[in-house]
Amino acid sequence: VVILGIETSCDETSAAVLLNGRDLRSHVISSQITTHQKYGGVVPEIASREHSLHFQPVVQQALNEAKLTFRDLSAIAVTYGPGLVGSLLVGVSGAKAMAYAAGVPLIGINHLEAHIYANFLEHQDLKFPLLALLVSGGHTHLILFEAHGQYTVLGHTRDDAAGEALDKVARTLGLGYPGGPQIQRIAQEGDAQAFNFPRAMLEPGSLDFSFSGMKSAVLNTLNSARMRGETLSVPDIAASFQQAVVDVLVRKALLAIKETRVKTLLLAGGVAANRLLRETLDHKLAEKGVCLVYPSPIFCTDNGAMIATAGYYHYLKGDFAPWTLNAVPGLGLV
Ligand code: ATP
Ligand code: MG
Ligand code: FE
Repeated sequence: VVILGIETSCDETSAAVLLNGRDLRSHVISSQITTHQKYGGVVPEIASREHSLHFQPVVQQALNEAKLTFRDLSAIAVTYGPGLVGSLLVGVSGAKAMAYAAGVPLIGINHLEAHIYANFLEHQDLKFPLLALLVSGGHTHLILFEAHGQYTVLGHTRDDAAGEALDKVARTLGLGYPGGPQIQRIAQEGDAQAFNFPRAMLEPGSLDFSFSGMKSAVLNTLNSARMRGETLSVPDIAASFQQAVVDVLVRKALLAIKETRVKTLLLAGGVAANRLLRETLDHKLAEKGVCLVYPSPIFCTDNGAMIATAGYYHYLKGDFAPWTLNAVPGLGLV
């Protein structure tokens, strides 16, 4: 089974060719980060234009590196939501045109599901039921994953996503976009105990998250220091905020494990690349005999390989999309 996976939901144009769900034959990612950096975040209109420019060359390069043509493909899998509508439409219409011309089936992929499926690319025998902590730029979800395609959202953020909070704090600290990797980098030089930022845990037993107040606490600390004419240590703020975000994610994950008694936790989404999060969870879960699984960093942030991986499992079920497939910017997981 040869799947071409295509991702254009945000600011990465990416394509990958995947053989039998495991053997990645090519993986091309064209990132627009440098384009959006000067605006401090993704500008939707610019993102769609960039996708239009890069879509065809990226797909062609993925096929060339895999030494294949369209006709060798079993199916073309493409993200149809959630994401920026203009960006999604470039991928969806391009994939449709190619699939139709090549006479191969089209598979519509939910971007959130694909983040979770990134784990299946590198880990052979994941046994259901699984628990997933999806932490990305737009989402923070705890998910019970009982079988392929079967999800129950146990908790989600009530305001900002974890990645969004990291991005906003980084922006205020003048660290640039995307903020998560910058916070991680500069936090190495800081003291994580320097500031005791709040850890929003919500009602006892709740598996929901809230990062907006935590983010505001950092901004308030910075503002009051500024009014007193003091300057605070950026590495200390970054380290302390990263620690607060990780503490909440770890505590909620442990609570979900306790409630569901699931023996494997999957990390997914861009924030899953965070070293402190991985190391803290690794340590805490080992004590409990729970297995922690996460993708390599390149498969945590947006990429075509995860789309191809999710596509493979849809292909096995014969789960194909109609030619009327449309972009669904607000698509949820269930
Ligand atoms: P979604 O998947 O929810 O639609 P998205 O596609 O924009 O949103 P991803 O690409 O999954 O999000 O992840 C990007 C987010 O991950 C950004 O918020 C970024 O700051 C964060 N991130 C990336 N690397 C790291 C890291 N090493 N540590 C912390 N955060 C990180
Ligand atoms: Mg991105
Ligand atoms: Fe994403």
